[in-house]
Amino acid sequence: MKLASFSTGGPAVPGVVFGDRIIALGHLVAGAPSDMADVIARWDELRPKLAATPPDAGLVPLSDVRLLAPVARPGTTLAIGLNYADHVRETGRDMPEHQVWFGKLPGTINGPFDGVQLPRASDRIDYEAELVVVIGRAGRHISAQDAAAHVFGYCVGNDVSVRDWQRRTPQWLLGKSFDTHAPIGPWITTADEIGDPHRLGIRSLVNGEVRQNSNTRELIFKVWDMIAHVSQAMTLRPGNLIFTGTPGGVGVAMDPPRWLRLGDRVRCEIDELGAIENEMVAEP
Ligand code: ZN
Repeated sequence: MKLASFSTGGPAVPGVVFGDRIIALGHLVAGAPSDMADVIARWDELRPKLAATPPDAGLVPLSDVRLLAPVARPGTTLAIGLNYADHVRETGRDMPEHQVWFGKLPGTINGPFDGVQLPRASDRIDYEAELVVVIGRAGRHISAQDAAAHVFGYCVGNDVSVRDWQRRTPQWLLGKSFDTHAPIGPWITTADEIGDPHRLGIRSLVNGEVRQNSNTRELIFKVWDMIAHVSQAMTLRPGNLIFTGTPGGVGVAMDPPRWLRLGDRVRCEIDELGAIENEMVAEP
């Protein structure tokens, strides 16, 4: 099942995607929550009420709606660095002995087709296509063996990075947390549709030119290991997001580096999960 947040002009509502059409969850289940994190938290109760086949009425073409970040308020958004071997090599860093974690603060969350801001504070803006894990069942001290049971689903993300801000201090947080710098979507594909997430082609394109082209099988630390690790520190909750790292091919590693410019269109796509595409716009 594919769950999206969408708007037809009014407030965003959660919906279910059937092919190239979408329907508000509230049309299918009376009293369904209006916030995706709540939908995820109540999924065990909601899921049996949803038919696998499209309903007869209420569907709207996806082309007639605006898709928004599937989880607008994820609470915690974590991201791992240096998690594909070719990306580690291109950064010139050593292979990580420990998982390298940072956060993306709430203002980064952005829609799958909305503008990403080129900030006034830097012109060294870069893309990172990433598999994003959406947490379902809450838990702490989750074992790698149990981790899959805590995953609600997956979506595509772009861990937009301000490289000079990221690199001039040991702590990456600010360089990774500029407003609008975590577009996600286009929807959440539930974990049962994906099974093993370590087999998906992942690509990024800038203005149609392929920049990154890899597969999630190349992840150094697997999704299950990541959940086991971070859940030692904190309780993971429904709707929390985990950015799982990016493959080689980022702009900073090119010679000379190729930074994103005004009007550039960055497309990130993952097999079976869809694609997001964001234009680089000026900071207002
Ligand atoms: Zn990243």
